[in-house]
Amino acid sequence: MEFAPAHSPFDDCGPDFADVAAAAGKAAAGERLERRDAEALYFRASLHTLARLAHAMRLRLHPEPVVTYVGDRNINYSNVCVCGCRFCAFFRPPESPEGYVISREGLAQKIGETLRLGGTQILLQGGHHPDLPLEWYEDLLRWIRTTWPKLHIHAFSPPEIWYWSEKFGLPVPEILRRLRAAGLDSLPGGGAEVLQNDVRRQVSPNKCSADAW
Ligand code: SF4
Repeated sequence: MEFAPAHSPFDDCGPDFADVAAAAGKAAAGERLERRDAEALYFRASLHTLARLAHAMRLRLHPEPVVTYVGDRNINYSNVCVCGCRFCAFFRPPESPEGYVISREGLAQKIGETLRLGGTQILLQGGHHPDLPLEWYEDLLRWIRTTWPKLHIHAFSPPEIWYWSEKFGLPVPEILRRLRAAGLDSLPGGGAEVLQNDVRRQVSPNKCSADAW
């Protein structure tokens, strides 16, 4: 398959971009990229070229003309966390006066805004709060499920589940079973920033290991 760059003054065409065009052609044809191809695309291809290649790949894998999405709002139920990830500007340690746990009123307002704008799902996540019991999460899920029966509750993350498993002395499947029974629909894949344990221990010293994730 021949790859034709888009006609834009910002696109990568011409003799100076022969390596980009060659790599783009291979990608468009579904061929395996060598390191130099990947670097040419990563460092020098325009956003238009990358978008066109991504679109072509999507159509190759999923030729049916269907695209799906959800209207979703991220809501943080608490910023209190004992993990201390070095890249995180969101969390506050338990003793911080800036720490919060969301109120039912605050949560209701955010969910109401989401639904009024056509949203169908919330993504609910927080820090690793050291004091909230498992029942607090179950009550929260039950209240959301009862109040908005059709809302999809996409909540928590593998590190939160692992933290609760250790903290409450319950196996991971039991934690998941209880949360599902309370209304959890699905679990986001959060907390996978780095899955190489040596680096993960340095940047997220108290988060579950890559293997546990
Ligand atoms: S676990 Fe999450 S909230 Fe806590 S410090 Fe790490 S990234 Fe921030």
